[in-house]
Amino acid sequence: MISIDGLRKSYGEQVVLDGLDLQVDRGERVAVLGLNGAGKTTLLQCLLGLIGFEGSVTVDGQQAGPAGKEARRRIGYVPQRPPVFDMTVSAFLHLFSDLRDAPVEPATERMAEFGLPPDEVGEKQMSALSGGMLQKTLLALALGAEVPVLLLDEPTASLDPSSRREFVRVLEGVDEDRTILFATHRLEDVESLANRVILIHGGGVVFDGTLKDLWERSGVGGELWVQVPASRQEAAVALLRDRGSVRGAAEDGGGGIRVELAPGGAMDALGALRDRGVEVEDFRALSPALDEVMDRLLSARSVGAEKRDTG
Ligand code: ADP
Repeated sequence: MISIDGLRKSYGEQVVLDGLDLQVDRGERVAVLGLNGAGKTTLLQCLLGLIGFEGSVTVDGQQAGPAGKEARRRIGYVPQRPPVFDMTVSAFLHLFSDLRDAPVEPATERMAEFGLPPDEVGEKQMSALSGGMLQKTLLALALGAEVPVLLLDEPTASLDPSSRREFVRVLEGVDEDRTILFATHRLEDVESLANRVILIHGGGVVFDGTLKDLWERSGVGGELWVQVPASRQEAAVALLRDRGSVRGAAEDGGGGIRVELAPGGAMDALGALRDRGVEVEDFRALSPALDEVMDRLLSARSVGAEKRDTG
């Protein structure tokens, strides 16, 4: 559905994308990760043809680029910070549907599904919408156009936790054959929405796989909090400390045990307690932040590269 070969984009002397290759099949949900400035937004803008570039980019078989109207017609886009529009919601939906030569009804139907019925919000000014309402309006427009590809640029970054959950829920319900590529820094978004993760660094794709692979490759473990009967707490800590999957375990002073895990260690740690007949009364798995996983993977890579350089 998306085919990128040798994509190169520079701003003056600065090479942002340096021969990036990426193939995305229909229906894939791809999270695009990268440090700030890695080129995530630039990649999305190239696909949309908002900026010129070198290399070959096609969307649904159509050449993308500033002249790529056919490619653009196949894409719905939700930018990170939507521009402020000085018009009502209804005027906005009509204007952008007209610009795409698409009927407005599918977008207004989506609005109703998202809990924003046009007869209630249609006459509101765009500038009066909350962040969550604005993102949903943009998504309704993008989905209403029946396009096969959705590009989302950190769509939940500016939302509060409850709007974020709702926006993610809406996206989870998007038809399976639509292809979604979204830039994000949020682990929750990746867990809920992506079946594939790519990491952009140094102008190219340096990781392409599942979230689990990314996590394991980074070497960052998670944390586990468990509660066992008080009489078994000491034994449980000793037992956990003996496991290869556990990097550290200690009583937290409040009746629980904090366990620092190697990647993927949670099941092993819980299984070990169960196998020794220690009842787990309660537990919580605490995931590391995505930025930490990304940083660790990238620094492991650069150490690897230095080692290779010096033989
Ligand atoms: P990301 O989305 O991963 O944070 P961006 O794609 O926004 O990264 O930016 C990649 C790099 O390109 C950054 O160093 C940024 O400063 C630069 N850049 C982006 N847009 C422009 C522009 N219009 N003019 C000059 N430099 C730009």
